[in-house]
Amino acid sequence: NKMRRKLVVGNWKMHGSHKANAELLAGIVEARPFGCDVAVCVPFPYLSETAVTLAASDVRWGAQDCSAHEQGAYTGEVSVGMLHEFGCRYVIVGHSERRAYHGETDQLVADKAKAALARGITPIVCVGETLEQREAGETEAVVKRQLSAVIHTLGHCAGEMVVAYEPVWAIGTGRTASPEQAQAVHAVLRAQLRAATARADEMQILYGGSVKPDNATVLFTQADIDGGLIGGAALKAKDFVAICRAAG
Ligand code: PEP
Repeated sequence: NKMRRKLVVGNWKMHGSHKANAELLAGIVEARPFGCDVAVCVPFPYLSETAVTLAASDVRWGAQDCSAHEQGAYTGEVSVGMLHEFGCRYVIVGHSERRAYHGETDQLVADKAKAALARGITPIVCVGETLEQREAGETEAVVKRQLSAVIHTLGHCAGEMVVAYEPVWAIGTGRTASPEQAQAVHAVLRAQLRAATARADEMQILYGGSVKPDNATVLFTQADIDGGLIGGAALKAKDFVAICRAAG
């Protein structure tokens, strides 16, 4: 869709080291310019070096989670105010790994998205069904429920989020949703956004789940797929850059 600029976001998860990050970021910076928006979401301790390395480029950066609280006695948590100080443009919220391993509820994810927007940070809100839910025919109901909580909590700001559809069964498994399967869900999400905000047609809906250089093009040419959230393939500059090129 020509109306929307594509966005490719690398989700490094709990990977990295000073040495590996420097190499990876240099590889991305050197490969510019891209014909799409590009960002990396890095572990908290690496935000500082990422900000320094990317500051002079148009590559954006962000975090992989945030607290829903402004500040206070929340040991181990990181506030959106802190992310703001490190120049974060994005924060991933509601990744399926956080929902599954940290018990994050739809409402908590919505509260985190709201906190991010309050500091001018764009939340990348992840939704997606498990294999069991897909096989039970519940895909639509699950993603709609997950997105609905965020839409209601954000209210008139709903048009400012980025949505990422990430089928849980496709994350880190090497099993990708077919372009048709992904597009079908993206169309459902777009329709839900249209009912909530006049900005729905400008909003970026990313696909995530085993996106690789060899399947990126066909996914990104679907009508309602506006880029990708990339896990494993975001850890190698060559692969990540190839995916960015596929989007541009
Ligand atoms: C992710 O975790 O956001 C993801 C899409 O991972 P992968 O690309 O490795 O499936």
